[in-house]
Amino acid sequence: MPDSTARNLSLQGIGVSPGIAIGKAYLFEQEDIDVIEKRFVPPEEIDAEINRFKEAVKKAQQHLRKIIKEVPDEYRDHVYILDTHMMLLKDKMIYDGTIELIEEKNLNAERALKKAVDNVKAMFKKMPDPYFRERSSDIVHASKLILENLLGTDHSKISDIDKRVIIVAHDLSPAETTQIQLEKIKAFVTELGSHTSHTGIMARSLDIPAVLGLGDATQLVETDDLIIVDGSAGIVIVDPDEDTLTRYHERKDLFEQFRARVTRTSHLPAETTDGYCLTVSANIELLEEVVSVIDHGGDGIGLYRTEFLYLNRPGLPSEQDLFDNYRDLAEIMGGRQVTVRTLDIGGDKFASGVSWAEEMNPALGLRAIRFCLRSPEIFKTQLRAILRAAYFGNIRIMFPMIAQVEEIIQAKHILNEVAESLHRDGLPFRENIQIGAMIEVPSAVVTADILAKEVDFFSIGTNDLIQYSLAIDRINKNVASLYQPLHPAVLRMIRRVVESAKEAGIEVSLCGEMAADPVNIPVLLGLGLDAISMNPISIPTIKNVVRTLSFEESKLFVQEVLEQTSTSSVLGLIQATYGKSFEMDSYLQSDAE
Ligand code: PEP
Ligand code: MG
Repeated sequence: MPDSTARNLSLQGIGVSPGIAIGKAYLFEQEDIDVIEKRFVPPEEIDAEINRFKEAVKKAQQHLRKIIKEVPDEYRDHVYILDTHMMLLKDKMIYDGTIELIEEKNLNAERALKKAVDNVKAMFKKMPDPYFRERSSDIVHASKLILENLLGTDHSKISDIDKRVIIVAHDLSPAETTQIQLEKIKAFVTELGSHTSHTGIMARSLDIPAVLGLGDATQLVETDDLIIVDGSAGIVIVDPDEDTLTRYHERKDLFEQFRARVTRTSHLPAETTDGYCLTVSANIELLEEVVSVIDHGGDGIGLYRTEFLYLNRPGLPSEQDLFDNYRDLAEIMGGRQVTVRTLDIGGDKFASGVSWAEEMNPALGLRAIRFCLRSPEIFKTQLRAILRAAYFGNIRIMFPMIAQVEEIIQAKHILNEVAESLHRDGLPFRENIQIGAMIEVPSAVVTADILAKEVDFFSIGTNDLIQYSLAIDRINKNVASLYQPLHPAVLRMIRRVVESAKEAGIEVSLCGEMAADPVNIPVLLGLGLDAISMNPISIPTIKNVVRTLSFEESKLFVQEVLEQTSTSSVLGLIQATYGKSFEMDSYLQSDAE
């Protein structure tokens, strides 16, 4: 029970899975494997040390195999992560790297493994994209399984938890997370991790509130402490006082009522009060997110970022790997539309199966379609897989980062060659697949009328369009406040693209994350977009907002918006006109006050 001496300690982390949980903390203690003793291994013992390492890897494989075999049904969709870890146990940089360090530097196996892992971590750390940076945690998690065997420590047992608790840990590996008995867990809090870490992805798809990246959580919280986890605002309150507790109980009720209301209707179309239906689809990075798309009522997949399959693996994926993945996606989505974007690597995302040149300005470098046109074999393999998978479902294809019409013409030319080769091979494939261009570079906006003649649809990628047009690095914290989706320049560009698409009679959608913010919806609707897409969990809220709006009124409203001269006046106008519709949003975003 809270009393007058309550600490009421409020901690800010990253809210990765919305919702509020109130309950007892359970501190999941883990071995500190950062401190590893360094030992010199004399030359005559090197072979034995290498064997000790190989034996530890073998044991880790057996342990992981057992976990995979016994994974409970609710985690089945995430097994592929454990499969990746299985592969990472034998990853060249880790496995061969450790053996080399034992041989060449006479290091003990533990220390050599730690050094090999640190080297890989340092490489990942340089990647500006948080999603790819976060993948270094997979290496850490996989190597931890080996290290535990080398050190002779027990694999920590999270499956033993037998009370309804909130787990507080330094970090949770996917292997650990899949052993948690879901009905026992109210929420997760970890010191490491971010929005794109697997624990975050899992928590979201399992609908468990989670706050990650909370620096000293395990120092500040003890088992049995009463804590509040606000997964929407990213706040954890330790030992709350009476008032705070009452307030959060109210918020929890409100949130649950809200969630029940929006999810009840999330499968229905987002129809405005005057009968206009806006398609609301999802953006995904991983096949396993499809479950979440369906659960949250996504009308389709507006953007499948296909990069993930090229990362965290020794070589490049085969046509069959890609085909299986795309076909599964299309089949799970039933007849609903799936937009597969061709490979957008280079810039800040690098595949280990490709050799990369150093670039001064990678965001302006050999990225996306530019990279694919220079690597026709990699491009063709992907196009073959997409065309073949499209035979089994409603797949369309989209080219990223188009800056000039020649790129589309060349890409279509290669696509035709690929279709002919499939024909020759006698493989079934979709003959007339729809082709789209992402509009995310200012030159594409200005020449949208020209590009529109070459494609069946446009998808406006505002994440990049804002970066390239406002000259704001999308991942640079120092200029984050200048990254403004409602900047008059951005709105005028969207208008221009929509107008060009309408004149040419092609569909136009928007797949940047600005579509996930309720505040932007009256503007996006009024600008005349046919569809928007966003992260799956935002879909119910956004559909709900659309239902409160009139299409005709929003079109008139946009005329006024386009007359505004600054972002703040656009925002002011939205708040003054539609403020009431965002009640829930402001609640979800608000802090503990
Ligand atoms: C965009 O740029 O808006 C987009 C959706 O693509 P990505 O975020 O993958 O660059
Ligand atoms: Mg982009």
